[in-house]
Formats: sequence, C-alpha cells, structure tokens
Amino acid sequence: MSQINVTRSSMPYYEEYCEEIKDLWESRWLTNMGVKHNRLKGELCEYLKVPNTELFCNGHIALYCAIKALRLTGEIITTPFTFASTTNAIVQAGCTPVFCDVADDYTIDTTKIEELITERTSAILAVHVYGNICDVEAIEKIAKKHSLRVIYDAAHAFGVEYRGRGICTYGDISMLSFHATKVFHTIEGGALCYNDASLTPEIVKQRGFGLNGEEIDCFGTNGKMNEFCAAMGLCNLRHIDDEIKSRGEAYELYEKLLSGVNGLTLLPLRDGIKQNFAYYPVLFDKAVFGKSRDEVAALLAENGVVARKYFYPLVSSNKEFSEDLSYLTPRAEEFSKNVLCLPMYAHLGAADIERICKIILE
Ligand SMILES: *Cc1c(COP(=O)(O)O)cnc(C)c1O
Repeated sequence: MSQINVTRSSMPYYEEYCEEIKDLWESRWLTNMGVKHNRLKGELCEYLKVPNTELFCNGHIALYCAIKALRLTGEIITTPFTFASTTNAIVQAGCTPVFCDVADDYTIDTTKIEELITERTSAILAVHVYGNICDVEAIEKIAKKHSLRVIYDAAHAFGVEYRGRGICTYGDISMLSFHATKVFHTIEGGALCYNDASLTPEIVKQRGFGLNGEEIDCFGTNGKMNEFCAAMGLCNLRHIDDEIKSRGEAYELYEKLLSGVNGLTLLPLRDGIKQNFAYYPVLFDKAVFGKSRDEVAALLAENGVVARKYFYPLVSSNKEFSEDLSYLTPRAEEFSKNVLCLPMYAHLGAADIERICKIILE
C-alpha cells in the first residue's frame, strides 16, 4: 500500500511554471523587486483583502522584520502552542517572550493576557492556529487599553476571512508563510500584511540590509523574495480556490467519519470564519477513547500513514531557556501531548481518508 504523507505540496502545471519563468532568461532580473515579485504583491493584496503587503524569502524572517519594524523592546506576550519560529523571532529581535496559556480552540487565552502585562510589555504576538483564528476582538480591546502593539503569526491562516474581512487586516502586522507545506506557497516565502502604509519604509529597510538610498539606517537583514519563488506564487495563486475547495471536501469527509466519537475532539472553529482547511487536528483523550495520541500515531505509521505531532514539543521547552517553561501553560502542554494532525492536502483521496479513519477507530 502506498504511503500517505501528512501533507503534499501543491504544484502548478509544469508547462505553466516554465512559461511563467521564460522571460527571466531575457531580463536576467532574478531578484530584488522584479516584475514577478511586484505582480505577486499586487495580486496577493487583492486576494487577501489587505491594503499593504511586502514579500519575503520566508515567513520567519518576515516575522523577525515585523518585530524590528515596530521597534518593539522588552516583553512580548505570546503563546507556546506554535511553531519554533514565533518564539525564535522574538528572541532574535532582542525581546523576551512571556508565555500565555491557550483556550479550548488552541489560540491564546485572552482572559489570561492582562495578568501577564508589566511595565516592560510592548506587544502581543498571537498565533492563528490550524486555520482557526484568535479572538481578534478581545485582543484588540486589551491592546488598546494598555497601548500595546499586536502582531499575528498568520502562517496557518492564508485566505481566511472573518465576517467578510481579510484576517490579516487585524492587529498592526500579520505574518504569512508561503512555505512549500502551506495552503499557498512560493516554495519558500512569506509576507507581512498591514493597514498602516507609513510602516512600509521601516519594513522595507529591515528586509534590505537597513539601506535607505545612499544611507544605512539600521542593522537590517536580507529577506527578499526572488523571481523564481514569486513566479511559483503567481502560478499557485491561479489555482488557489480549487485547492482550498478540494481541501474542504477532505475536511468534510473527516468530519463525517470522526465526529461524535467519544474521546475525540475535532477542531473548534470561531463563528463567522471563511475557512482555508489548512490542517486536520484531532485531540485524543486516552481515558475515554482507549488509545493515546502516540499510540494512534504509531499505528498509523505501521500502516504507511504519516501523521504529525503538531505542535510538539512546546516551544517553551527550548533548551536555551534557563528551565523548561512548559509548566507555565498547562493547557498548551496537554494539547501538545494529545493532538495529532492527520494527512490534509488538496486532492487527498476519499478512499485514503476512509482508510485513515478506519485505522484510528479500529
Ligand atoms: C510555517 C510557520 C512559520 C514559519 O514560516 P517559514 O516560512 O517556514 O519560515 C511560523 N509560524 C507558524 C505557526 C508556522 O506554521
């Protein structure tokens, strides 16, 4: 039986990509805000319903540049239920992450943010998880009350809308990842989306070595997106609606086969979301279901199905911290030990999904 991976990168038609990159042999303009880059930027603004966007070589560097562009210092309240990138970007930008526990839906628990605010707090860096979104309204209220900046790690939330509004219009800046494993990709890539156009010069300088004409304004990094990656993005964007629709069909079949099973919790979604079906996480309660997350993952692996313990381990267990900080956020710790992301990608076959669910439920 063939192996089923947890994800599979979407690909445009081979000829389509070749056609898209053809003129690069004429122009020899391979990176630094070329034609493909500029076109992709414009098309993404429209698709994502955001007023401003800047493209990057990956999501991580974009997030780092967002923190630097807002000139954040001191403490940033964030969540440990995320990919290593979120915390690493905070530390690399010279700030201290302060971990807040998560709510039932894996996003930051907004009832626990205020007790963590000190005079050193400069921002909240929250994460939209699995395509579900944070309580953006509660976060906005807290941020306003305490004069804090808000950044969203929206790596999981490409194309998600909330009450008809692009999710990346919430907060000061949202980061998207266009990594090969994400719903939309440019092989490697990322973006920052934001409402306030006056942030653009600072973001661009942070991305481009701190250069400003003939002056060097700051210790910027190099985060530019090259033309071949932008071309891949232009191709993938033409097919994105079909891709998301196909993911939705897979999602629906999982829901049908797994909902109502005692001991399994499926992804709780906030009301008013237009989903992107990025992931299919299942939370296992061994005491009720009979099998633990790790036992199910092993059973699937034996049968050629690769599921992902995601997010595991918690980023607060990073060995560079003076101690394992996971104990500070018991709920995130519990989710991290018991959640499993099942295979999810466009054109994942119904027979494969049925096989996966049968293995789990047997
Ligand atoms: C993928 C991801 C990132 C990092 O994005 P890259 O493009 O791989 O650098 C950051 N945060 C989360 C939540 C992610 O899933």
